[in-house]
Amino acid sequence: MQKDCIFCNIAEGKLPSGIVYKSNNIVAFRDTNPQAPVHMLIIPKKHISKISDLNEEDAQLVGEMVLVANELVKENNLTEDGYRLVFNCGEKAGQAVFHIHLHLLGGRDFNWPPG
Ligand code: 5GP
Ligand code: ZN
Repeated sequence: MQKDCIFCNIAEGKLPSGIVYKSNNIVAFRDTNPQAPVHMLIIPKKHISKISDLNEEDAQLVGEMVLVANELVKENNLTEDGYRLVFNCGEKAGQAVFHIHLHLLGGRDFNWPPG
């Protein structure tokens, strides 16, 4: 837990957020500034600043994050139409919160390449 980290505080239940999933290691909640009809963030409770800081012992955590995303995809009926999972890493890639988070975006068409 890093005291000044927004997502650590959400994971600890110290900041209000639309939590949609919680387990021992993972929390998922709705993005406050949604970029699609469905926009959720899946985070590990453990504070890791950037995906490039991952080490081998964190590999399981990232696997769990993807499995949670799969559950949320099913709950939100996104399987057929498709959806996007995104990690932004570093400021130039659009990372604004330095606690790793997996974006789950769905409910509209997406362009490729991304902006
Ligand atoms: P990034 O740009 O770092 O990949 O994504 C950060 C995301 O976190 C953004 O989509 C932003 O809207 C969301 N966000 C920032 N602060 C909060 C917050 O306090 N609560 C929630 N639920 N989402 C947040
Ligand atoms: Zn944190």
